[in-house]
Amino acid sequence: MDRKQLIVANWKMHKTPAKAAEDAEAIATALGRLPDHSCVALAPPFPALVPVRERLNHTQLLLAAQNVHSEAEGAFTGEVSAPMLKACGCSLVIVGHSERRALAKESDAMVQAKIKAAFSHEMGVILCIGESESQRNEGLTFKVLDKQVREAVKGLSVTGVNSLVLAYEPVWAIGTGKTASADQVQEVHAFLRKILAECLEKDLAKQTEILYGGSVKPSNIKDLMSMEDVDGALVGGASLDPKTFVSLIRNG
Ligand code: PGA
Repeated sequence: MDRKQLIVANWKMHKTPAKAAEDAEAIATALGRLPDHSCVALAPPFPALVPVRERLNHTQLLLAAQNVHSEAEGAFTGEVSAPMLKACGCSLVIVGHSERRALAKESDAMVQAKIKAAFSHEMGVILCIGESESQRNEGLTFKVLDKQVREAVKGLSVTGVNSLVLAYEPVWAIGTGKTASADQVQEVHAFLRKILAECLEKDLAKQTEILYGGSVKPSNIKDLMSMEDVDGALVGGASLDPKTFVSLIRNG
């Protein structure tokens, strides 16, 4: 098994390009050389990608985008394509975040098309999945996740290791301060790895990093990371302040 530990900062719609660049530099400087097997990625808003990338040159930090369109170019006002993101220095893109599924009405089919677009431009994908509070209360968690994963990766050839990362983000834990317990997360991640083994090659499923997201903070990262199938975290609120984010990474 050769999985990395990956911690991703999802800055959502926060920070001007100048502030994002300043914070990226502060994080890279504070972290210094990362241990082997440890990766950190920053996902700033689109206008900050290039300024952040400029500060990350000569560091080990990766640049991620928060969204991508499924087409490479065309009359799609307001959209950004995979080749454009690649040209900005992104090696990863977040796809299917629950905020986009809810606010931009992204369906599983759209999510799948976006993954395809990213793969065809050699970008890695962080595929977000997660159940809502009412779905969990109705006992539908595993059914919902099963569908989200299968529909997203259906028919795709995931060839390279690291091209696909899963991020389990229960919607009820995002930005709410409520975190799923480490045991709850482990149970879901083990289930997700089983589904991946059915959808992808078995070895690839073993090597796919599965992140947890939803109110991860410096005080709970260690517990979460101690679980066998938790390979990292997708962090929103606690990634905004560089000092907090750096201590979260150190605690993990
Ligand atoms: P949060 O957000 O850490 O603020 O809960 C996580 C996410 O939405 O990716």
